Amino acid sequence: MSEPIIALSGIRREYPSGEGTIAVLKDVDLSIEAGEMVAIVGASGSGKSTLMNILGCLDRPTSGSYRISGVETSALDVDALAALRREHFGFIFQRYHLLGELTALGNVEIPAIYAGVSPNARQERAEALLARLGMAERVGHRPGQLSGGQQQRVSIARALMNDGQVILADEPTGALDSHSGEEVLRILGELHAEGHTVIIVTHDMSIARRAQRIIEIRDGSIVADNRNTVEGEDGATSSPAIEEKPPSEIKTSRLRGFLSSFQEAFRMALLAMRAHKLRTFLTMLGIIIGIASVVSVVALGKGSQQRVLENISSLGTNTLEIFAGKDFGDVRSGKITTLVVSDADALASQPYVAAVTPTVSTSSTVRFGAKESNAMISGVSERYFVAKGTKLSEGRFFNASSVLEKTQEVVIDENTRKALFADLNESPVGKVILIGTVPARVVGVTKTQQGGFGSSQNLSLYLPYTTVQARFLGSLSLRSITVQVNDETSTALAEKAVTQLLTLRHGTKDFYILNTDDIRETITSTTQTMTLLVAAIAVISLVVGGIGVMNIMLVSVSERVSEIGVRMAVGARRSDILRQFLIEAVLVCLVGGLAGISVALGFGGLFSLFSSNFSLVYSTTSIVAAFVCSSLIGVVFGYLPARNASQLDPVAALSKG
Ligand code: ADP
Ligand code: MG
Repeated sequence: MSEPIIALSGIRREYPSGEGTIAVLKDVDLSIEAGEMVAIVGASGSGKSTLMNILGCLDRPTSGSYRISGVETSALDVDALAALRREHFGFIFQRYHLLGELTALGNVEIPAIYAGVSPNARQERAEALLARLGMAERVGHRPGQLSGGQQQRVSIARALMNDGQVILADEPTGALDSHSGEEVLRILGELHAEGHTVIIVTHDMSIARRAQRIIEIRDGSIVADNRNTVEGEDGATSSPAIEEKPPSEIKTSRLRGFLSSFQEAFRMALLAMRAHKLRTFLTMLGIIIGIASVVSVVALGKGSQQRVLENISSLGTNTLEIFAGKDFGDVRSGKITTLVVSDADALASQPYVAAVTPTVSTSSTVRFGAKESNAMISGVSERYFVAKGTKLSEGRFFNASSVLEKTQEVVIDENTRKALFADLNESPVGKVILIGTVPARVVGVTKTQQGGFGSSQNLSLYLPYTTVQARFLGSLSLRSITVQVNDETSTALAEKAVTQLLTLRHGTKDFYILNTDDIRETITSTTQTMTLLVAAIAVISLVVGGIGVMNIMLVSVSERVSEIGVRMAVGARRSDILRQFLIEAVLVCLVGGLAGISVALGFGGLFSLFSSNFSLVYSTTSIVAAFVCSSLIGVVFGYLPARNASQLDPVAALSKG
């Protein structure tokens, strides 16, 4: 005689209780042949469901041997048990356990998804099964739109989906009215007639009498096992049998199984996100803010750095500025009078120098008509404007002969124009203003230099330095000398040579030199450090966002415990469950990341609308990094909740329904 399809021997199931344990099943021996229809009866609490869960490989016995078609199950791992549930068993539960977010068709398809059946094949089969059970018109309905009897028929279709040999029904009519219950029993009878092994748990003897064999269980032990040959077959009335697919058609393919369960996980993630829109959005918000701030901060840093560097370039490349005084910020530098025009002349004759611009400065009141204001007076040479890259909005600069002749020509800036000539409708060029007591004719107006160091509310006037020396300072000393080094010489080398020359001329080092290359380097590294610092703070907000994702995913898992139980009961592997929740977390983070990037780009657009000074510079690297970063957050912070979900115990999960 061949092996029975189910063979239990010495099965014991204990639950921890207080100090010790209580045995719910005690040394159960039972064997069931393929094609039998068996009813398990007993009072409530006698251990029927516990036995059923062990039969269906949802639960493991504490001790004893359970063989399915001769294969010992105690040695199998969780995935092998999942495969048995998927391929050999179909479950029908008292409370249907359908997934509320899926249609009837979607619910019936689930076991086939985990078995790796192609979408077309599984849809066709699910439709055929539902049609056979009289549900052809209801395939698109959700469980909430179906009556109890209809829901139970959907769950029967699901149990049949993978063509499992054994149908396990735990109180299948317990929640149904007598008519629907009768219908369900008729279907089970038909399935038996078609060759399925059907095991029904019930506490109702009138239902049990439809089976060929009635097993009675009391306090965890089998107390009776009766064959009931007379009435056994009468439930099986004729009805069109389901066109059975040849087994090859629903064979599993590993790759396809992986792909379709990936697809399924993706679909479920979208459904879950849609079902909790506000919650999903709030979760995302953390990621959106985090990503948006990181991307914007980096772009701001880049933008301001670029801007500052542009300004430095307008100082001229290869430029040294020589100031009187011991060091930058020497308070007496204004009074040190050792830097003189002859120094500038000496420098001009050096082979490594391309151009020299002496500068002097003072401040004074300026007056035009009734308007009066304070202004910074810079005495410069005509080369100054070239070296600084100053642009005119009107008029002209003074020239070399103006410097020689100490003309009283003045170039004013935009601030001065606003302060003195606001009421004037015509151009200020050609007007004479009073600087202190010295009259000077306006020859040009400069454009505002944007975002530079000196972009302030100060009024700035530019006169020939000779004029300033003669008319305002009464001395020949200079505030600074700007030296443009020629292209062949490095600024560092030139700086050394200049230091040597001037130290020799003055007998001591009473000056200091600003090298624009140094400034550039300092500013580059400073803005980089600042950007890094602020970005680090923004990264903290990302981490906080990630913790938010983890928190919500944990909530989501605990809300969906019964869904997880159902999926496991129909054969989902642990990895399927893990993947589903991981994908959900990654999806939330990715969508949040994309939204964050768009927010950052939008912010940049808005920024450039309101500030012409500088724009945010987005690097592709930072955007790609943000994208990768948000998916990583999903994986890292989604892993714990997803793992928790995948390690749930199927029986415990189902009982939460
Ligand atoms: P039935 O389905 O026959 O009504 P069950 O198999 O569900 O009975 O339960 C049998 C006994 O096992 C009950 O007394 C129940 O309290 C106990 N039991 C079931 N599950 C657990 C569990 N997870 N922990 C502790 N006791 C349990
Ligand atoms: Mg029960």
